[in-house]
Amino acid sequence: MSGLSQILDRIRAAETAAGRAPGSVALIAVSKVQPPERVEAVLEEGHLLFGENYVQEAAGKWPGWRARFAGVSVHMIGPLQTNKAKQAVELFEAIHTLDRPSLAQKLARLAQARGASPRLFVQVNTGAEPQKAGVLPEGVDAFVAEAQAMDLPVEGLMCIPPEGTDPAPHFAALAEMAARNGLTGLSMGMSADFEAAIAAGATHVRVGSAIFGARDYSNR
Ligand SMILES: *Cc1c(COP(=O)(O)O)cnc(C)c1O
Repeated sequence: MSGLSQILDRIRAAETAAGRAPGSVALIAVSKVQPPERVEAVLEEGHLLFGENYVQEAAGKWPGWRARFAGVSVHMIGPLQTNKAKQAVELFEAIHTLDRPSLAQKLARLAQARGASPRLFVQVNTGAEPQKAGVLPEGVDAFVAEAQAMDLPVEGLMCIPPEGTDPAPHFAALAEMAARNGLTGLSMGMSADFEAAIAAGATHVRVGSAIFGARDYSNR
């Protein structure tokens, strides 16, 4: 048994505690680097929404599972190189890491050619950490407007708060930025802090190790 049902229970409890409707938070089961048998166990438990960080890894894993499990949806939550954008739009229902004009332009061209685009979240570097991807908070409004002017379907914002700090102010700040831009999606909260994210309005939580167990990067 995976940790899926426990996490779903905790999400329901957090929704209720926050006065939010049951089912208003989507659980993205982050399956990057996990052994296939762990992912299959969660698919067999009936879960259909997953998150991946690496285009190459996702391309190897998901076509087979999509053929076996109807209704699977896979979201890209890792940094996306522009030269992998074409593969990404073919593989993912949503991309949570739109973070720069060059990627927006590439995605817009691909969307025009295909007549469709994955749903998009703009990643915000709420802690303004130099090593971290994402638009800086002061640049969010302009970047969202720029992407929307390219007809890109921006659904919301995404953040990964700095490690070792209280994530709550980052979640609150992201919620405020989304609201003032008229965006309804909020991709925030991981294994250690998804309940705080739900309290702050998360619509998508990205939970990996609490469902599947610890990741072993030596297997990659
Ligand atoms: C790996 C990852 C997660 C899941 O992390 P856990 O701590 O295992 O829940 C969530 N979001 C992003 C962007 C990640 O890279």
